[in-house]
Amino acid sequence: MTRKIPKRILLKLSGEALLGGVDYGIDPEVINRIAGELRDVRELGIQVAVVIGGGNIFRGAGLAQGGMDRVTGDHMGMLGTVINSLALQDALEKLGVHARVMSAIKINEVCEDYIRRRAIRHLEKSRVVILAAGTGNPFFTTDTAASLRAIEMNADLLLKATKVNGVFSADPAKFPDAERYTRLTYDQVLDARLGVMDATAVVMCRDNDLPLRVFNVHTKGDLLKIINGEDIGTLVTRAADSAADA
Ligand code: UDP
Repeated sequence: MTRKIPKRILLKLSGEALLGGVDYGIDPEVINRIAGELRDVRELGIQVAVVIGGGNIFRGAGLAQGGMDRVTGDHMGMLGTVINSLALQDALEKLGVHARVMSAIKINEVCEDYIRRRAIRHLEKSRVVILAAGTGNPFFTTDTAASLRAIEMNADLLLKATKVNGVFSADPAKFPDAERYTRLTYDQVLDARLGVMDATAVVMCRDNDLPLRVFNVHTKGDLLKIINGEDIGTLVTRAADSAADA
């Protein structure tokens, strides 16, 4: 089966993916490797947008559990995503890749505001666009920001980077016989509460027919293989027969 090569992708990286071997913050080895993989994808002429989470720094829900006001916690979480985004921008620039952080919260001394048309212009000019501060609103997640931005910016494919090889019937770390799905529909993910992304993000993908591929960000080279049409991880689409295009 010949798979269509996407022209514009959006990669969702969780903050935790950046932890690598460190307990807190960012493992330089991990961010440099991811930057290198993004450069390789860019060199194929694919337009690349990235949304980064902030779970390696703060999550609003966790802070609220500790007694903090939830909205303040979410603001702190969003600022955490800006920190991660600046780190990725730096790692890309060290490799000679032009990149721009665009934030949903105004923070003009450190990065641009997210303006859709400007973001698309950056992509067209081969810059990697790193979308920071999630949606800019509390009570949302960066998963939802990723599907929102991918849809707004007409991405062909949303790639959700995780620490396992796709979507499983149960947590493969706890249940070694858990089955990996190669194909799922949005409704299967939602009905079985498969925990791929939060429900809002999956519903947005479903309602806008945006293909979603879940893969292991720690397996070197898989990102490029996916772009080149290899069937890696789990593909989530409207129906199994629409999968050939994603
Ligand atoms: N956040 C938010 N609104 C958004 C996106 C993120 O308030 O649109 C906050 C929220 O507190 C969240 C934190 O930023 O917990 C970090 O994002 P997320 O948990 O999605 O990061 P990840 O789990 O991907 O590392």
